Amino acid sequence: MKETTKEKIRKVEEFLFGSRACICCGKECDGDNEYKLCKDCMDVIPFTKDNYCLRCGEIIKGDYDYCIKCKDRDFEFDYARSVFAYTELTAPIIFRFKYNGLRSYVYPLTKLLRDYFSTSDLIADSVVFVPMPEKRQKERGYNQSFELAKEFCKLTGLELLEVLERTKDNVKQATLNAKERSENIKGSFKVIDKNKVKDRELLIIDDVMTTGSTANECAKVLMKAGARNVQVLTLAKTVAGGIDMLIDDIK
Ligand SMILES: [Zn+2]
Ligand SMILES: [Zn+2]
Repeated sequence: MKETTKEKIRKVEEFLFGSRACICCGKECDGDNEYKLCKDCMDVIPFTKDNYCLRCGEIIKGDYDYCIKCKDRDFEFDYARSVFAYTELTAPIIFRFKYNGLRSYVYPLTKLLRDYFSTSDLIADSVVFVPMPEKRQKERGYNQSFELAKEFCKLTGLELLEVLERTKDNVKQATLNAKERSENIKGSFKVIDKNKVKDRELLIIDDVMTTGSTANECAKVLMKAGARNVQVLTLAKTVAGGIDMLIDDIK
């Protein structure tokens, strides 16, 4: 069958910029949404608005400042924020980004992060990503936290600091409960250049936050190295009673 010019252009564009499909439902987008989300998905994605826990960023129902888990826990970072809740609807976005859509996904997802950041209460002068165990990064081909952080810095002008190093190759976090996650990730990171961190206001960028134990462990070594403060921004935050993790969320 003969290709129409429109189809040819679409293929060239797809080669250059990745697919035009909606990053959530996979339907062809009208192209005028820089998040690459169709209107139907924009209407139903559980974006965090004013209804989140001030500490961990999880969406909560009712007029409370903190979620029930944060009432008796403290983090090494000031607070975490997320663009949307990790639900059955949004899980495929993260899944496809991680496993088969780097080029199509990283730009629209970073724009979501940037627009959230610019209207949020997050304050930062530099960005840090979560390093993956070397072996796992080789398998996947890239580290999604790094890719998001790198693009985020291009869009915001913040400085990307490559200061964290992975010191342990942990068991996959996805298979563990909250307490086990926290134990498993302990001592997994170190700061390789303390001078770069000193007195900085840091923002950890990542794709998903579950219990917060990974971000917490990163924040711990960053604060110890002299950072002024650490905050966290992720695309998605799991919710209480939400779906089981469909994805391997290890870093
Ligand atoms: Zn859609
Ligand atoms: Zn909370």
